[in-house]
Formats: sequence, structure tokens, C-alpha cells
Amino acid sequence: MDKLEEALDQMSKMPQEQRDNLIEMEKKRVCVCKKCTSYSECMKDSNEGLFCILGKSSCKVNVDTCMCKDCPAYNSFNLKNDFYCMVGPEMDLRRG
Ligand code: SF4
Ligand code: SF4
Repeated sequence: MDKLEEALDQMSKMPQEQRDNLIEMEKKRVCVCKKCTSYSECMKDSNEGLFCILGKSSCKVNVDTCMCKDCPAYNSFNLKNDFYCMVGPEMDLRRG
């Protein structure tokens, strides 16, 4: 299991409330989507982020640039893709 799989495995074993709190914390602490020009008002209003884990945005996405490769999570979890708000979560992309 690599680091991303381990983290997802740990998260899946957490009680829902703890998992939700962790997600909210990481959205604020790690995810740089809010600084991205593709991050829309709709995404902001829906408090979206952490798309690499949680999957596509529920908003209409007009992608411009993607800052994922500058995000601390990118290296720590050895992520390989980008534009997660549009294409979905890393694990789905790995499975192809
Ligand atoms: S890699 Fe992208 S989607 Fe994932 S936490 Fe970082 S900025 Fe957010
Ligand atoms: S996933 Fe990439 S393109 Fe989408 S908002 Fe985050 S940094 Fe921007």
C-alpha cells in the first residue's frame, strides 16, 4: 500500500464525524485549490476542495490553470495527475 492508499484506508475506518472534520481541516491546511484561477464562486459557495481525494466538483468547471502540482499533498501522496476538480479523484484515474 502506498501513502495515498494508507491514508484513504485510515479515513475509511474513521467514524463519520472524525472523517468529516479531517477533510475540512485538510481543505484549509493543505489544499491550494482556493488560490487557483479555476476555483469558481460556485466551488467556494459549496465549500469544495480536496478534489484529488473527494472527486469531481459538483459545479460547472471552466478550467484555466491547475495548481495541484504546487500543493504539499501532491508530493506527499505521490500524485500523478491534475485538474482533479474536472477529471475526478486520483484513485479512479490510477485504476483507469
Ligand atoms: S492536489 Fe489539488 S485537489 Fe488535491 S489537495 Fe492539493 S490542491 Fe487540492
Ligand atoms: S483541482 Fe486543480 S484546477 Fe481544480 S481548482 Fe484545484 S488546483 Fe485548480
